[in-house]
Amino acid sequence: FFESLSSAPHDPIMALSSLCLQDTRSQKLDLGIGVYRNALGQTPVFDAVKAAEQSLVAAQDSKAYVGMQGHLGFNRAMTSLILGEQWETSRVRTLQTPGASGALRLLADLIARTNADATIWLSDPSYTNHEPIFRAAGLDVRYYPYFDAATKQVNSDAMIAQLSQLGTNDVVVLHGCCHNPTGADMSLELWQQVTELSLKTGFLPFIDMAYQGFGRSLEEDAQGTRYLTTRVPSFLLASSCSKNFGLYRERVGVAMMAGHSEKASDSMLSQLLSLARNSYTMPPDHGAAIVAAILSYESLKASWQAELSHMTQHIQNTRKQLRQALEHRFNRDYSFIEQHQGMFSMLGIDTDSVHRLRTQKAIYLLDNGRLNLAGLAPSQIEYFADSLFAVERM
Ligand code: PMP
Repeated sequence: FFESLSSAPHDPIMALSSLCLQDTRSQKLDLGIGVYRNALGQTPVFDAVKAAEQSLVAAQDSKAYVGMQGHLGFNRAMTSLILGEQWETSRVRTLQTPGASGALRLLADLIARTNADATIWLSDPSYTNHEPIFRAAGLDVRYYPYFDAATKQVNSDAMIAQLSQLGTNDVVVLHGCCHNPTGADMSLELWQQVTELSLKTGFLPFIDMAYQGFGRSLEEDAQGTRYLTTRVPSFLLASSCSKNFGLYRERVGVAMMAGHSEKASDSMLSQLLSLARNSYTMPPDHGAAIVAAILSYESLKASWQAELSHMTQHIQNTRKQLRQALEHRFNRDYSFIEQHQGMFSMLGIDTDSVHRLRTQKAIYLLDNGRLNLAGLAPSQIEYFADSLFAVERM
């Protein structure tokens, strides 16, 4: 049956990760995959997660199926976390999904079911799995200008110029915060302009929020999203609990949506439920039950927030130290490293240097030069800066 089947192409992030795992050099640095590591190089389980798990084990008396929409308390809590306590309840619908990946795919399928000719617009560049997910749903994918490689900032003018050409057939994917892979975020002013454009031209905004709390704070990271979602008639949103709750392998996320009327929102949700039913039926419960517990008990919530802001602080310190280490060696301005938000930055390292770092220094970055700063321990910063200096002079 499968005799003529060829292998599927490798996912670049997963392939790099396994290459790094096989590398036996002791000084190796995995700065590829987007996983947070503390100063000791560990990705710890949050204390609040451990406590919530213990109470779940003690209290849970059944493993019977949960409803199709997942854990309703989780869905409500996540909606408040993302849209704020004041979110307008009547048109927003939320569905628990297996990670943001699951949400992206379901929402992509929803778009394809509604309008198979829609064009998905991604930022140039974007998360490496965005394009494959949308293409797998049968959708056409194009890119709008986003990152200016010279200034290492968002090229707002070029982005606005492109988006103003769009119309009702177009879907624009925006990173809620901590842009992956560049680290360059949209200012609130740019969010406001994009909102105006969406209202004027009719394109559908689709927000991917995978790192809330990893930039400035839980509230500030959601500012742009909240501005836009309270003003547009319709939006889609995918969010993840992989990073900000450290629940990567539990596969927890949400798909959120609003249509122009309550009836439209209900139809969107029912289509999403049927898409899930045709695939995995309902999402895994454990991670969502943990998040629901954390967000509903004040002491757990406070512990989680403290740990998350500690992680954010750790990344900001790494950004500061890396900037100093690079400016000490190169005669260049690296202030953008401190301006970028979240785990990633693109430092402008070309593919040749990325390959030399890998082969000669055992330092693993994505081919596009994306660096996961949250994977760089303080004790490794000097080695990284020395190595970059060495390979760039070759
Ligand atoms: N969107 C973006 C922008 C991401 O960076 C990631 C994960 N790295 C995802 C979605 C998928 O996250 P999850 O683990 O929740 O599927």
